[in-house]
Amino acid sequence: MAVVERVDAGAGSRRRLRLSNPANLAPLGEVEVSTAEDVHAAVERARKAQPDWAELSFDERGRFMERAMRALVARQDEFVDTIVSETGKPAIEALGAEVLTACDVLQFYAKNTKRILADQTLHLHLVKTKRLRVVQRPLGVVGIITPWNFPFILALNPTVQALMAGNAVVLKPSEVTPFSGRLLEELFRDAGLPDGVFNLAIGDGETGAALVESPVDKIAFTGSVATGRKVAEVCGRRLVRCTLELGGKDPMIVCEDANLERAARGAVFGAFANAGQVCISTERVYVVDSVADEFTRRVLQETAALRQGALGEFDVGAIIWPEQLEIIEAHVTDAVEKGARVLAGGRRNPECEGFFYEPTVLTDVSHEMLVMRDETFGPILPIMRVRNEDEALALANQSRYGLNANVWTRNKRKGTRLARAIESGCVVVNDCMVSYGVTESPFGGLKDSGIGRVNGRQGLESYCHTQSILIDRFGGRREPIWYPYSARKLGAMKRVLRVVWGTSLGKLLS
Ligand code: NAD
Repeated sequence: MAVVERVDAGAGSRRRLRLSNPANLAPLGEVEVSTAEDVHAAVERARKAQPDWAELSFDERGRFMERAMRALVARQDEFVDTIVSETGKPAIEALGAEVLTACDVLQFYAKNTKRILADQTLHLHLVKTKRLRVVQRPLGVVGIITPWNFPFILALNPTVQALMAGNAVVLKPSEVTPFSGRLLEELFRDAGLPDGVFNLAIGDGETGAALVESPVDKIAFTGSVATGRKVAEVCGRRLVRCTLELGGKDPMIVCEDANLERAARGAVFGAFANAGQVCISTERVYVVDSVADEFTRRVLQETAALRQGALGEFDVGAIIWPEQLEIIEAHVTDAVEKGARVLAGGRRNPECEGFFYEPTVLTDVSHEMLVMRDETFGPILPIMRVRNEDEALALANQSRYGLNANVWTRNKRKGTRLARAIESGCVVVNDCMVSYGVTESPFGGLKDSGIGRVNGRQGLESYCHTQSILIDRFGGRREPIWYPYSARKLGAMKRVLRVVWGTSLGKLLS
């Protein structure tokens, strides 16, 4: 049983995908897959619509986002239902992490893009006869490709940033969660967005690949490292810029002086929220020996209190994409074979009808094990005992990933020092997983976790090309370095060089 099945539509028809709910296997319906021609037509529509959209002021574009936000507030239950039906996550996660965050994103960029992307006028340190304006111009058409774990917010967030910067968008949501992708189309329709500014291409990897090959000006990709590499290769060949938001293997460092109650609760939330299917899930814990027993005891206590399911009140939902279950099982099996102990969970949940894996706590783990090396993307919390913080730091950095991390200590100065030493795009001290949801906080990875940033100034600027406009201030018949060249001019230039870069007066002036 798969939650997304390819349906044979017969010769001459478009391919179709049949979807079902991962929590109870109920059918959700079918969608038609966009062909490469459909994708090119969508990019063309976007290209036509973009200049008029870019002509609007930030305030005018912001008003569309605010209308979308109001539509989202009004239709929140309906949106949550769609997200829950496709992902099997608890309604509170769909509402909190996706719908509520989406409202904040729409409001924040509606209000702040004008300030963030405002022209800058710079006075120059040397060439006083010129003035510099640095202007952020939209790129044109942005292709956005997104995964299934947060199918609504991960599609909406880059879309809003790209739109507010003056671009038109073609979105290709994951084939596992196309109905959540469609919610964006509905939202922007409710907001009265001009035709062609936002376009949807439903489909799988083939549709995504067609978008990457289409004449877009940027690809904003969120997904796995393997697909990100393919996208980057094509963008490299085509000289199209791309942002890659890829996988992670977030370390958690628990220092001797940590508030263990808070750290243990944070570990359990960080590892099991969204059933561990978060790029910034806590995927490996390094706890200092002297507090390891107490920390582990508290983690187990918190884990035992979790409720898993699909109906009523529950904490941990389904595995959205069944193939992910095989990766999770392979990691746990490998760990056990190499000496790990399973202190909680360690199996599919036999009491649930759909795809569920029990919240799992492992100890006696090592870096020989897959569970400490590769992204698991499931509800697994491996705890490793270390001698001290230096060892924790060295092990945290012993990874090909570098997306996010968290450090727990009562000493904030030490927390910041450790954070700065961790090789990752984001770090949280005494909390976890909040990095993506803070709109001002540039979010993105180091190493295999990706290239570029979303969110805040850096995110918005990544949907622009920076144009510098130099304006001559005084006019005059000609510039000193223009023709004709002469020995006199050469001598004058040498004198300038000696004074400006050869004397302390020059250092003051330059
Ligand atoms: P995936 O790479 O399999 O798919 C992501 C998207 O790429 C989907 O829409 C898919 O259809 C499309 N795609 C597949 N092949 C393609 C191709 N050749 N060209 C273009 N597009 C193609 O990832 P997934 O399984 O959907 O998502 C899980 C992964 O996403 C995890 O690794 C997770 O860590 C990562 N992720 C990263 C972030 C982040 O912000 N860094 C956020 C969420 C998820």
